Amino acid sequence: MRCPFCKTPVARENVHECPRCGLSHAKVARMFGVPPQTLPGITDSTGELSFFQRRAVKGDIARLEYRFPQVRISIFITGGLDPQTPLNTYTFWLFNNGNVCPNLERGGMNHTALLVIDTTNSRASITVGYGLETYIDESHLGAILQSSESDFQEKSLGRAIRTILHSLTAVLRAVHRQIDLVRVEPRPLSTEAREGERVVAMATY
Ligand SMILES: [Zn+2]
Repeated sequence: MRCPFCKTPVARENVHECPRCGLSHAKVARMFGVPPQTLPGITDSTGELSFFQRRAVKGDIARLEYRFPQVRISIFITGGLDPQTPLNTYTFWLFNNGNVCPNLERGGMNHTALLVIDTTNSRASITVGYGLETYIDESHLGAILQSSESDFQEKSLGRAIRTILHSLTAVLRAVHRQIDLVRVEPRPLSTEAREGERVVAMATY
């Protein structure tokens, strides 16, 4: 896997601690404490989204999940993070330790996508579960975040989230075709290399 903080590749036998920066699950837990409660769909701990914006975002999430029934979307909007807090690491931690993913969806069956928006520091980060990592890589996630740059710069949080959801839908549509191709012409996926990897992308606006 790759360290979610410094991105150094970490061998499987050293998975408990990053050899470069020393990050470990215990240190991350000490760094962030008790994970915030998240609701299914969107959790806005800042109250910055209006009723209508939240309703529109919820509609987009429902449409995406209807179209791709395995996929679960979780969005967490936070306003209390220190600028020094590494958002990639925070997102990784929340994904693994919060109540974002149902227990049944751990491991290879996990098709959850988590978007974290840090409104105080104008940053966003996105990660996906192992079940999606085979098809969605860091460059996809980076492009998804970049698509909302102008919305963020115009301080339109609701529109930024909707743009991200639309970009994610476009990527999933392409991924869906890939899955179909794999089904037609089976080829071995290097699960050895995939397993334990975690792709996280972050953008500052
Ligand atoms: Zn590291």
